[in-house]
Amino acid sequence: MAQSDHMKKQIDWPVALFLILNPIFGITLFFIYIYFFDTSWIMWISFLIFAAVTNLSITAGYHRLFAHRSYETTGLMKFLLVLFGSSAFQGSALKWASDHRRHHSHIDTEKDPYSIKKGFWYAHIGWLFFKDSVDLEIKAPDLEKDRLLQHQNKYYVWWAIATGFVLPTLIGLAFGAPLGGLIILGSLRIFVTQQSTFFVNSLCHTLGEQTYSKEISARDSFIVAVLTHGEGYHNFHHQFQIDYRNGIKWYHWDPTKWTIQIMKIFGMAKKLRTIPPQEILKARLNAEAKWLETKGISVEKVEALKVKILEAQIKVKKFKEEYALRKEDWKNSSKEKWNEIQIQVAELKLNIQKAKSDFNFALKEWQLVTQQFA
Ligand SMILES: [Zn+2]
Ligand SMILES: [Zn+2]
Repeated sequence: MAQSDHMKKQIDWPVALFLILNPIFGITLFFIYIYFFDTSWIMWISFLIFAAVTNLSITAGYHRLFAHRSYETTGLMKFLLVLFGSSAFQGSALKWASDHRRHHSHIDTEKDPYSIKKGFWYAHIGWLFFKDSVDLEIKAPDLEKDRLLQHQNKYYVWWAIATGFVLPTLIGLAFGAPLGGLIILGSLRIFVTQQSTFFVNSLCHTLGEQTYSKEISARDSFIVAVLTHGEGYHNFHHQFQIDYRNGIKWYHWDPTKWTIQIMKIFGMAKKLRTIPPQEILKARLNAEAKWLETKGISVEKVEALKVKILEAQIKVKKFKEEYALRKEDWKNSSKEKWNEIQIQVAELKLNIQKAKSDFNFALKEWQLVTQQFA
């Protein structure tokens, strides 16, 4: 027992020193550098692009591709995601995905490697200082077979140094500022992008709404989404982890989702997985229903309202499907049948409109009830 208690407190020195020294050197050298040298606009543009590519390689690559397999990609794209993911100094994709899967299956418990129950700073960065949370065994059988991921995991330090420090120095050298490249595109970028990922484990479990499940600490927040390239809709994500989106509405800030959609246009992403809207709405209503019941509203009333919304939603879907089918028939029909089908199509269009207004009305009713207690 004493042995295991002792083990728990062991500090992982290489990781801890990097996390302490990189910001200290990076920020200090940055101010010294800009005092003595002029930094050109190319440096700042490169910084923004490199930082975005780094973070997106983590969110679209390490997270949504490897940890959750929410879409498939090409060999070249996979390589690029692993390459630039390495430059983030967040460990290998294999290790990252394995820890992250643990986080999902043991959220808010002792087995969650970065549990928010141990405090905001522990979830943010603290867990990375201790051997017992950093050195967890890799458990991701599907990913362990991948040769590229194996290589990156085995030689991670070299991948990280080459992409995280050598490449930035070479980019700087290309416009005559290798030292600036090393400090700004290397060290400073690593510090900034690491914080963005760390916010997912701290802020995403602290700030925002528990839209789909009030039983877990994960939360949905626009502000956190902006800080984390779209990962801020984290309650949705924990509830539906296989969905390639975190922000499901078009106006939800989720650059990672947009990146995957753009990759799809260029044939670099396929089989994008999504949860049907019916299931998403149902989860939301169920979460709100439980909450309403704690406010003293009768279970029967809440259930009746919920059923009304869900039935109207199913009707909209059914009429839309029928409409699409009849419209196809209409295109291919003979002249005699043309008028008959035209009427049917028009009727279906009306039915869709009616079902939609029933749905909106039922939802409004629900909102009025919930607003009373907000
Ligand atoms: Zn989480
Ligand atoms: Zn996740």
